[in-house]
Amino acid sequence: MTSAPSYLFYQSRNPRPFLDRGEGIYLFDEDGKRYIDGSSGAMVSNIGHSNQRVLAKIKAQMDKATFGYRLHFRTHPSEDLAAKTVAMTPDGLDRVFFVSGGSEAVESAVKLARQYAITQGQGERYKVISRFPSYHGCTLGALDLTGYAPLREPFSPMMRGMPKIGAPATYLDRSNLSEEQLGLKYAELLRDRILEEGPQSVLAFVMEPVGGASTGALVAPDSYYGRVREICDEFGVLLIYDEVMTGAGRTGKFLAAEHWGITPDIVAMSKGFGAGYAPLGAIIAGARLVEPVLDAGGFQHGFTYAGNPLACSAGLAVLEEMEEQKLIENAARMGDVLMAELQTLMDQYPFIGDVRGKGLLTAFEFVADRTTMEPLNPKLNAYDRLVELAYARGLIIYSRRTRGGTAGDHFLVAPPLIITEDQVHELMAILRDALDAFAAEVGLPVGC
Ligand code: PMP
Repeated sequence: MTSAPSYLFYQSRNPRPFLDRGEGIYLFDEDGKRYIDGSSGAMVSNIGHSNQRVLAKIKAQMDKATFGYRLHFRTHPSEDLAAKTVAMTPDGLDRVFFVSGGSEAVESAVKLARQYAITQGQGERYKVISRFPSYHGCTLGALDLTGYAPLREPFSPMMRGMPKIGAPATYLDRSNLSEEQLGLKYAELLRDRILEEGPQSVLAFVMEPVGGASTGALVAPDSYYGRVREICDEFGVLLIYDEVMTGAGRTGKFLAAEHWGITPDIVAMSKGFGAGYAPLGAIIAGARLVEPVLDAGGFQHGFTYAGNPLACSAGLAVLEEMEEQKLIENAARMGDVLMAELQTLMDQYPFIGDVRGKGLLTAFEFVADRTTMEPLNPKLNAYDRLVELAYARGLIIYSRRTRGGTAGDHFLVAPPLIITEDQVHELMAILRDALDAFAAEVGLPVGC
């Protein structure tokens, strides 16, 4: 089956086996081989695969209507999902706009910010500051906010080149500052940049509260989050949290923003929101922003499939399942178990230089030297090799090589939020086996 000719292409040719079925945290290929979905696909399958209760609810909606255009009808799935989303979100975020994916969500957040600024007589605000490295999507608008050189390069003449500040990669910072001071130091980069750009021209700042693919579950010091909020308020800059990966419970709260008690002006969500049962995303904003835009003639933006009842019925069923199974609480608990296990890897593998994350969004990073945090030699292709060795052993993890766009192999471990403690140990046993195989293959020492 796997050798059948393919007319399809993605980023590259696809050598993977055919997927047969999913069950909980596991996926099976057509040869019957079982894989632990240790990255929930691309941090998507938060409630696990083939949840029968969710499928039954989607099927019930399918039997009624799969599509009703939002300008022709209101639908219960979309209204109910919006209400449920608002109920699960901190106060002050009470208007929802649906989309079908993460890039669409980020584009929508920025465009809402822009239209709001116009209603406030601030039409000169258009610059959106983001961080480097970062990932915010691959459509041209979202790509312009993305700090990841290989993706940007071919398209750079087609983009404006929105301003970037450094992401708070404090694990690489060798200054003698306390955690708190480090957080403030990186937050000040935003203030400096706003001043440099001219505060009256800056519309918004967009950030991933916990980094995703580009930075590998990067968490800033606590002091960073509050200071960034203050700086945005000081200059009337809107704060957009890209929670496409972190949202819908992945970090142990519904929104990662809740860990720091931050209310962003706009939140972008996707991935775990549809949890792989439907292409779905949303932006959530306060009425304070949305109502003036609606009063001024409406949001000049929207996608055909936005808010379709089928995707929304899936999203609603996913959120109900998360509540009934207390999956957000489980993500927090299992995140602690997983993090403790990952930390033990540092005792065994000297080439692991950092372990980080929040809830079930965790990562470890390879280094050549823990003192200098020099990355492993890129020629080893570690980011690719470890993934392949784990895959061969029935474990899927997600990797990237980025550090300021240069090198630094990191691996995301982000299993479905339904994972049990025994399954965390099962995952870790395969991961250790793959790390041993990697060390042997490239001749790196193991043990202390
Ligand atoms: N923002 C973040 C933080 C993401 O992780 C992603 C996807 N990796 C996106 C935006 C873009 O989402 P999509 O691929 O669904 O367009």
